[in-house]
Amino acid sequence: MRHGDIHPEGPEVLLIEDDDETRRAIVRDLRARGYHLVEAPDGRTALERWAARRPAVVLLDLGLPDVDGLQVVRHIRREATTPIVILSGRYEEREKVDALDSGADDYVTKPFGVDELDARLRAVLRRAAGPAADRTGRIVAGSLVLDVARYEVLVGERRVDLTPREFEILHVLLSHAGRLVTKARLLRAVWGTAYQDEDSYVYVHVSQLRRKLAAADPDGSLRELIVTEPGVGYRIREPTPTAGPDRGTIDGSKVDPSS
Ligand code: CA
Repeated sequence: MRHGDIHPEGPEVLLIEDDDETRRAIVRDLRARGYHLVEAPDGRTALERWAARRPAVVLLDLGLPDVDGLQVVRHIRREATTPIVILSGRYEEREKVDALDSGADDYVTKPFGVDELDARLRAVLRRAAGPAADRTGRIVAGSLVLDVARYEVLVGERRVDLTPREFEILHVLLSHAGRLVTKARLLRAVWGTAYQDEDSYVYVHVSQLRRKLAAADPDGSLRELIVTEPGVGYRIREPTPTAGPDRGTIDGSKVDPSS
């Protein structure tokens, strides 16, 4: 397995917390729940990791040693809609409200239990799945299911191992099913604004994504799922329903259980 690239676990969480003990405890608890953790002990490191990783969700302590946590919220919000959950101290009411006003999605108040934190993270991830997803955060296209909250892609029963970039590309495309997504838009959403002109990134990752989906899809129903619009971008084609086995006559009559 290519270390640092493949998601061996669940959604990637960027945990920004300067208190070592608290950070270690959260890392341990969330790993046990299947999350993949990326840690940052200060704001500067946090923004570096954010740029490099584009995590699925950000967990942010507001009281950081170098920069104001609010600046971190604003920076991320300028670039992406990635959910942000605030780790708030009991006496940071004001800071918490400011962070929510600046675009943070939710908060937990210290001390909190892992059950509560896990539930908040699942909830913001489900919401972040967007309007294309169902209530559990799943987007379905034919035999393909992208589960945002569980951070997995299934083709039929088979799990497809995608890198975080591939997962995000598929997520963005599926969220706009049927509509054109330009390469610049994909770059902004998946890599960030600094990469706006790196068209080749998109090409390479989309090719790889197609290969993996094709390999997981022996009956070929997902072939052409991702359609190239030459020179412009991509769109998801809704797969044509496969001609299923003849199911015979459909009997619509109700069965009376008392008979
Ligand atoms: Ca702190």
